[in-house]
Amino acid sequence: ISTAAIAATAAAAVHAQDVDMDAVLRRRATATPDEVAMRFLRNGEDDVVDLTYRQLDQRAARLAHQLRQQLAPGARVLLVLEPGLNYVTALFAIFKAGATAVPSFPPVGTRAVSRFASICNDCGAELVIAEGSLRAAEERLNAALSAEGKVPAWLFAGADFFEALDARPEVAQGAPNADPDFPALLQYTSGSTGDPKGVILSAGNLISNSRVLDIRMGTAEKHVGFTWLPPYHDMGLMGALLLSVYSGFTLVMMTPAHFVQRPLRWLKGLSKYRVTSSVGPNFALDLCVDTITDEEVDGLDLSSLKLLFCGAEPVRQATLDRFAEKFGPAGFSSTAYVPCYGLAEATLFISGKADSNAVPHRILLDQASLAAGVIAPATLDAPATAIISCGTVATDHVMVIVDPETREPVPEGTVGEIWFKGASVAQGYLNKPEASDEVFRAHLAGDPQDGPYLRTGDLGFMMDDELYITGRIKDVIIFAGRNLYPQDIEAVAQACHPAIRTNGVAAFAVTRDDKEHLVVVAEILRSAKLNAEDLENVEDAIAAAITLSHGVAPHTVHLAPVSTIPLTTSGKVRRSACRDAFNAGALAVAKPRPTPAAAAE
Ligand code: ATP
Ligand code: MG
Repeated sequence: ISTAAIAATAAAAVHAQDVDMDAVLRRRATATPDEVAMRFLRNGEDDVVDLTYRQLDQRAARLAHQLRQQLAPGARVLLVLEPGLNYVTALFAIFKAGATAVPSFPPVGTRAVSRFASICNDCGAELVIAEGSLRAAEERLNAALSAEGKVPAWLFAGADFFEALDARPEVAQGAPNADPDFPALLQYTSGSTGDPKGVILSAGNLISNSRVLDIRMGTAEKHVGFTWLPPYHDMGLMGALLLSVYSGFTLVMMTPAHFVQRPLRWLKGLSKYRVTSSVGPNFALDLCVDTITDEEVDGLDLSSLKLLFCGAEPVRQATLDRFAEKFGPAGFSSTAYVPCYGLAEATLFISGKADSNAVPHRILLDQASLAAGVIAPATLDAPATAIISCGTVATDHVMVIVDPETREPVPEGTVGEIWFKGASVAQGYLNKPEASDEVFRAHLAGDPQDGPYLRTGDLGFMMDDELYITGRIKDVIIFAGRNLYPQDIEAVAQACHPAIRTNGVAAFAVTRDDKEHLVVVAEILRSAKLNAEDLENVEDAIAAAITLSHGVAPHTVHLAPVSTIPLTTSGKVRRSACRDAFNAGALAVAKPRPTPAAAAE
């Protein structure tokens, strides 16, 4: 029996009694009331405020008492607070009140308001918990809901609302919920491939996902976590907030805005608080490399960091190498990388690197074979694609790679759709019975007893028990019988020229005269100050590089200003939305710097 297996058994036993996240919190508040559950960096730096388990439990209980007066069991409560301690308190209050939490982006700005309205309508929210500063917008926000939509009640949490809960009388907490099937949370997907869908997560799903992550993190040491991820997406919510309470480690938090404004703050936080575990998608690592100076690296100490979870979008070898090279001198070790894969329909985690002492595995594949769905090692004289392993499947869960047409499992080393089953698989999509049947209740051909499986819509293959992701079914571009993965094409374009914004490329196919054409949109940094000729050179460079690497010449290379490509609130490229805008002729065009002659006229 391995040490990992012993640790897994021990972790399972410790939490065996917890049916839901509220039970977990109550146990922490009893066992270690004065330990710091969350530490929030209010300004992203030195303005620190702590919340202990007792405070979290008590405040949540008092707020739950208030919520219960106005809500029926299972009522949906939209949570649109800014990231921070109050966000977590309100979330646990909703759990304690026996309502269903619906985390969402704060409705500030036109796009966020329309997302708010569509989520509010879709779930029929009875209550919205929002910052006090939104009070003035109440009527306008209600007006944005559709005519048939239910108008929710609002709870505006003004300054000190949550601190003032401490002064309310203590409330007796009733018996904990005993129903693992209770719909604890509705997690809306990011909306990369279409409109966000509400994934129904049971109390048991949240416990299962926390458990598999807890096991992956190892029980040998007491962790300190750090997150700046948005708490309204699966990775920030399940992968940081809920996990930290489940596992009982202190979580240091700051807002996504503070991170994006100054990525150095993240790494400074890791240094200062001797953080052992953190999480950030590929783009965040690039952002750190691009914005942090060598002098600033000198002031960092990343030697405590044992786990850096990296997922939610393709994990790139080039990014991992750049980050390790830049921050190696500050004590960062590549063994900390934990490339991982998951999605909201599986609560979050499906697979990740298992050995915390090893660097992530990767393989170099022959690009032409990959396009035909065959995995063959790269050779020296043909274009290659590097793919990082997303590790092994979650404990007590099953993953199968399946031919999406025949629904038969494919042999190891063949690309197919990733299917998944186990206790982390969600209950279905809200209000979408057909899509729920198709996605959540799949069975392998010829074996109706086995399952149901979740169809992830993602493509990948297994090699030595590890998962390698190749792309999404919906985004794959099929060209003369070959599969082109847009993210590979985007990476090639990206590397062509320093004037292209990092992660500022989208590749997709359009149909013209019954023919498929490849289109590449690339955002050009204003600071690059390119003139008309430079822009043409960038177009040519992109076209040449893609032709060389993939044997396909793009029909159109469209250069655009920064912020043209539509992104999700989690920062992912929405390729189909970008294609729609391209087809409608609605994509902005990068403007050249005027030539001296033109300027003189
Ligand atoms: P929508 O379902 O609304 O289109 P979304 O799929 O982006 O949005 P999420 O559940 O937040 O919503 O993201 C999960 C998806 O992210 C996965 O299905 C997969 O396509 C992608 N993903 C996650 N981890 C990885 C990874 N390590 N490598 C490549 N892709 C990943
Ligand atoms: Mg999805």
